[in-house]
Amino acid sequence: MSDVSVRFAPSPTGSLHIGGARTALYNWLYARHCGGKFLLRIEDTDKERSTPENIRIILDGMRWMGLDWDGEPVMQSERIGIHRPLIERLIDEGGAYRCTCTKDELDAKREAAQAEKRKYLYDRKCRDAGHGPDCGEHVVRLKMPVEGEIVVKDLILGDVTFNAAELDDWIIARSDHSPTYNFVVVADDHDMGVTHVIRGNDHLNNTPKQLVVYQALGFDIPAFAHIPMVHGPDGKKLSKRHGASAVTELREMGLLPEAVRNYLARLGWSHGDQELFTDAELIEHFDVANVNASATVMDFAKLEWINQQKILAMTPDALAERLLPYLIERGYSVEAGPWLTTLAANIQERFKNLVEMADHVRYFFEEPSAYDEAAVKKWFKADTGAILNEIADGLEALDPFDEAGIEGVINGVVEKHETKLGKVAQPIRIAVTGSSISPGIFETLALLDKERSVARIRKAAAHATQHQAEKQG
Ligand code: GLU
Repeated sequence: MSDVSVRFAPSPTGSLHIGGARTALYNWLYARHCGGKFLLRIEDTDKERSTPENIRIILDGMRWMGLDWDGEPVMQSERIGIHRPLIERLIDEGGAYRCTCTKDELDAKREAAQAEKRKYLYDRKCRDAGHGPDCGEHVVRLKMPVEGEIVVKDLILGDVTFNAAELDDWIIARSDHSPTYNFVVVADDHDMGVTHVIRGNDHLNNTPKQLVVYQALGFDIPAFAHIPMVHGPDGKKLSKRHGASAVTELREMGLLPEAVRNYLARLGWSHGDQELFTDAELIEHFDVANVNASATVMDFAKLEWINQQKILAMTPDALAERLLPYLIERGYSVEAGPWLTTLAANIQERFKNLVEMADHVRYFFEEPSAYDEAAVKKWFKADTGAILNEIADGLEALDPFDEAGIEGVINGVVEKHETKLGKVAQPIRIAVTGSSISPGIFETLALLDKERSVARIRKAAAHATQHQAEKQG
């Protein structure tokens, strides 16, 4: 095993977003590529906004995405015992100091800065005051460099330079002693042995602050890689309005996790002009340093195309297994087995996602409640009632009720009436599915079984006869 350790560190203040899932994926791919560790840390220190329900949704989303993490998830809120001594140490060593400035005092200074249209920065009044532990109510501030530059060496963005004069001595522990976010991230990343911090570039502005904590504590500085945000086609932050924004919605759209992995990996990263990757190929080729620095735009049509390619590449058995939960969710009585595998094989080439498939096959589980009017108008002719009844008779006598036998019966009727298969097949489709769209008619009838096929064809025959009578009357 290499010594590379990366982590995904979601805040459970909402669900797992597509952008977050991509950050997780890049961490996972990089860890697997290097033979290192992929760790998970739940940043649940915001007690009001972090909920157990959100934690569950995030973990489920990670599992659905197939992003398995190493070891137990680390809960940030349970690690105060690690954070607190580090703050004491920083004060003792002079890297941080107690600040007793009151809220009123700071508010007045902030207002004065605003009035003068100046950016407000803490004026470092307590920096050299040497306040001891008994100074009364206080916060703890980090001594930031007063001048010069802080350079973030980023694997994707290159060197990003921050002017020290624009950053103040920020608070690392509040007056209730609780450590603040940017401090805790460093303490945890160091404690967890993180070697590469791969995260969204919405955190880039935190990095210079975090770098100073690393330096003050004498910790090794990890490599940083800030990955660009995922936007909607209009350039705005991705939201449900663009199609979907949460990972749960991707599942609800009938997408396969391997398609989502392939698409999100390819979004902002490439390997030549290859579009379709197996997981093994992604792991082999992915390097975080090759991620594109510019913002990326979510293209749901392309995601769906990849999904279709993954569906086509599956064995019918595998497809059946993936389809099954969608069928059960719709209340259909169905189980895994040869019947379902045959169904999967018959519809595999026709649909782009599992939802379209599951919705389409409803007629195998429920009798169609009505016939598509336009289809009836187009395909039910004067002789349709008689033809359908003859086919029903033939099918009823068939034993075994299999595709070849069904084909024989239908072709026999077609020949007898000197018509064409298409003209007969469409009314049968309408009879069994309610509309004129279905996979091959012989396969469909075989899957439906004899009893239901015959009953539906007879019912449609009656309807066709009545339809003609109405037309003439
Ligand atoms: N908890 C942060 C987030 O959800 C990530 C922080 C980090 O990766 O350093 O955006």
